[in-house]
Amino acid sequence: MMTTYDPYQNMLNVLDEAAAVLKLHKDEYAFVRYPEREMTVSLPIRMDDGHIQVFEGYRVQHSSVRGPAKGGIRYHPCSNVNETRALAGWMTIKCAVADIPYGGAKGGIQVNPQLLSNRELERLTREYIYRISPIIGEDTDVPAPDVGTNAQIMAWIVDEYSKLTGKYTPGVVTGKPIEIGGSLGRNEATGRGIMYTLMSYLETAGKNPCDITMAAQGFGNVGSVGCLLMKRAGVKIVAIGDVGRSLYNPNGIDIEKAYVYANSHGRTLNGYQEEGMKVIPKEAVLHLDVDVLFMAAMENQLNDKTMKDVKANIILEGANGPTTTEADAYFYKKGIEILPDVMTNAGGVVGSYYEWVQNRTGLYWSEEEYNKKLHDNMKKTFQTVWQIKRKYHVPARLACYIIALNRIVKAQNYRGFLG
Ligand code: GLU
Repeated sequence: MMTTYDPYQNMLNVLDEAAAVLKLHKDEYAFVRYPEREMTVSLPIRMDDGHIQVFEGYRVQHSSVRGPAKGGIRYHPCSNVNETRALAGWMTIKCAVADIPYGGAKGGIQVNPQLLSNRELERLTREYIYRISPIIGEDTDVPAPDVGTNAQIMAWIVDEYSKLTGKYTPGVVTGKPIEIGGSLGRNEATGRGIMYTLMSYLETAGKNPCDITMAAQGFGNVGSVGCLLMKRAGVKIVAIGDVGRSLYNPNGIDIEKAYVYANSHGRTLNGYQEEGMKVIPKEAVLHLDVDVLFMAAMENQLNDKTMKDVKANIILEGANGPTTTEADAYFYKKGIEILPDVMTNAGGVVGSYYEWVQNRTGLYWSEEEYNKKLHDNMKKTFQTVWQIKRKYHVPARLACYIIALNRIVKAQNYRGFLG
C-alpha cells in the first residue's frame, strides 16, 4: 500500500489518541488541532550577481495557550507550509511535556543555504524578519535555530528586529552567539539533553551505557554533540551517517576525532577517515545490528519502506518526526522502544528558555548552573513520561501527548473558553 506522508496528520493521529485516553470530548480540545496563525511571505533578494530571486518563507504559530509561541527557523530546499505546521505542532507538545511556559511555533524558508553567499544569506534573513516582524516578539513568538540555521543567523535576527523596533531586544530569538546575549551551554543543549534522556532510560531499564552499541543517522549539531556526549558516557558508536554517506567501524568510530573533523569541515564528514572504518550505503546505517538507533537527521526516515529491517531495540529520536505513524505502530508491536522526539530532544528548547530568562532578567549564569538546570528538567520530564506510560500502558510518545494535552487544555480552561 502506498501511503502519502503528511507530518501534520501524524501529529493529529497521536493527539486524537491522547484525547481518547483522557476521555476528552472533541469540543474540549478541537483548538489544539488547528494552528492559531500561519504566515507565508515572499522574499525578493538581490543576489550577488545583481539579479533578483524570490524565496518563500513561513512562520506558523501553532499555540500560545501556555505562553509565547516558540520554535526554530529551518532553511531547507524542501521547507513548505505543511512541514512547518507539523514542526510547530510538535513544539507545542514538546514545550508542554517539558513544562516550560511556551506554546509552539516554527518557521522556514525554502532555500538551500549552502548555495548562498554569506551576504545573500544575511539579506535573506533580514528580509524574512522584516516580513514576519508584525507577529514575532519576546512576549509573542520567539524563533531559534533549526536545520540549516545557526548562531550567526540568530545574530542578524536580533539586529534586524532591534532596528525595526528601535530597541535592543536580544530576547526576541534564542540560540544567539554568547557576545550578544546567548547562553553558555545552549549550543550543546539539544545533544546534552538527548544524552541525559538516554541515561535516564538505561538506568530505569537496569542497563549499563558501557554495554550499549549505537548507530547514528545525522551528524549536524544535534547528531554530533549527542554522539560525542553519549560516547563519553560509555556508549560504543559503530556507525554515523550524514547527508552523503554512512561510516561504519565495528570497533567503534573515534567520535572525538570525527566531531573535530566535521566541525572544521563545514559540518560534513566528507573525506573523513580512520583505521578500520569503511563506507557503507547511506541507508544501511538504519539497519545495523546495534542496541540503539539514534535518529538525528530529518523527519520521515523510519517509514513503511525502511522500518522492517531495523534491528535496534531502542530508537532515540534526536530529530523531529523521524518516525511515521505506520512505523510507530510497527515498532510498538515488535517491542522496540521509542524515546520520542518531543521528550528526547526537548533539551534544545529548554535551553532556549534558560537563555530567554537570562535575557529578560539581565543576570547571566555559569555553564555549570545551566547544565544542572537542564539535567534536572530532562530527568524530571523523563520520569513523568515513564510514570504516565506505565499508568496507561501506552508507548512513550502517546504518554507525552497525554501529558501535554492535559496541560494545554487545563491552561485554556483557566484562560477562558473561546469565541
Ligand atoms: N529547533 C529546536 C527544536 O526543534 C529548538 C527550538 C527552540 O529552541 O525554540 O526543538
